[in-house]
Amino acid sequence: MIFALVGRPNVGKSTLFNRLVGGRPALVHDTPGLTRDRRYGEVEYGRFRLDLIDTGGLDPEAEKGVIGAGTSRHARLAVAECDVVVMVIDAVAGLTPLDHEIASELRKSGRPIVVAANKVDSIRREVLAGDAFGLGIEPVIPVSAIHGRGIDDLLDAVLERAPVPPVPTPMPAETDAETEATIGSGQETGPEAAREERPVRIALVGKPNAGKSSILNRLVGTERALVHDEPGTTTDPVDTLLEIGDRTYLLVDTAGIRRRSRHGEDIEKLSVALARRQIERADVVVLVIDAAEGASEQDARLCGDAHEAGRAVVIAVNKSDLVRGATALREIHKKLRDELHFAGFAEAITVSALSGDGMDDLFSAIDRAAAEHRRRISTAELNRFFADVCETHPPPPQKSRAVHIHYLTQARAAPPTFVLWANHPELVSDSYRRFLINQLRARYGLRGTPVRITVRARRGHPKKPQRQGRPPNRPRPRNRRR
Ligand code: GDP
Ligand code: GDP
Repeated sequence: MIFALVGRPNVGKSTLFNRLVGGRPALVHDTPGLTRDRRYGEVEYGRFRLDLIDTGGLDPEAEKGVIGAGTSRHARLAVAECDVVVMVIDAVAGLTPLDHEIASELRKSGRPIVVAANKVDSIRREVLAGDAFGLGIEPVIPVSAIHGRGIDDLLDAVLERAPVPPVPTPMPAETDAETEATIGSGQETGPEAAREERPVRIALVGKPNAGKSSILNRLVGTERALVHDEPGTTTDPVDTLLEIGDRTYLLVDTAGIRRRSRHGEDIEKLSVALARRQIERADVVVLVIDAAEGASEQDARLCGDAHEAGRAVVIAVNKSDLVRGATALREIHKKLRDELHFAGFAEAITVSALSGDGMDDLFSAIDRAAAEHRRRISTAELNRFFADVCETHPPPPQKSRAVHIHYLTQARAAPPTFVLWANHPELVSDSYRRFLINQLRARYGLRGTPVRITVRARRGHPKKPQRQGRPPNRPRPRNRRR
């Protein structure tokens, strides 16, 4: 489910975007010639994970210099891509001619629209939202992006209007209770277990002409595959659901992959933005590279984005039919390692979409990466690791202060995220964390997935690792929407 924020400048779209994505970094993409960046983010709401686009605004004035010139290409594309549009207005400033014009453009798009009357910072101001009914669009939800008022109402209204009901996405363990449950038992329970059951979400990304749509056709053309297109509100289906035996995969934004390959070079920039959104929505990112060309800077960036977003990565080295000989192929793989800094953890699979060679290997690598991405290491196992590695190689003292580490827990999966409890977290260096990550990989594999370690404070003397105990006090995550 994708929704977009549109509206004239200064109504508070950026502020609302930040509020909705809850402080997680947005993927910002600047598209030359357009008025402002278009940002993609992910909104976690109850059991749902929604994708959000901030268009930077339907800004007809800026584009053509006059009112009445029509919507910007930018926002039009975003509107075409989304399921529900949130039109943001400034309740304090009241409606302007530009708001009316934008509303009429949006009505033409045929998308469900929700009006967010922003800057209603207090109950007293709620009366101001009344003005918004003048647009003739309902519902009107009074919100305050700055103070977080009305945000849940807004999201409820968006969900109600979604043409396709969003699939509930189990969330990673976040509360103490959940963390405790999963850590304490060392078993796949609760949210994580449910996550196991949903299809593996796959994004195919890479430069135009690398062979993404050819690989897509091969994947969906696999014998035994049952294919359902997931309807979007655009004429193209958005995602493709693939069932092979008892496994299901969701290929995300297949419409985007096909569309891009039709238009070719001129929307290369835009394809990067789309790829970033695909990455946000995926569990496993398949980076498709043309073997004859090698990896470009753009590929390296996409790989970095996937890593940063915590997604598993598989590299598909495509068009291997054009490469003569095993030595040349080995050279290509070696060069890839140098060119893609973040890809050290990823498997690179040689394929040819043309001949179909390597497709089974690609599926296996995707399965492996997805499994490692969801991996949970039992507390008993982590205790052994702690004793062997952390205790025998503790972090060096910093500024003549001793750094005590207490124990290691796994806070969540997808990607595997560990918490190292220490007396002075600020004194645990990045290089020590990298050391631990490498040690975790050496022992448990974790191939294809990013691995994270965060360091948290715990006072007192180091204890033996606990099997059952409650994790040390830490602040409950604040409910960021209130
Ligand atoms: P955009 O151009 O639509 O993205 O608008 P911005 O998010 O940049 O906000 C424009 C201005 O409105 C900024 O000065 C914000 O601080 C302010 N603003 C945004 N949301 C609120 C709100 O809920 N209440 C108030 N009082 N001001 C807001
Ligand atoms: P996309 O833009 O990444 O979706 O790339 P396409 O799938 O449209 O492929 C771009 C071009 O590369 C097309 O002409 C394909 O026929 C060709 N192509 C794709 N895969 C292969 C392959 O494995 N071998 C060869 N020789 N050509 C390929």
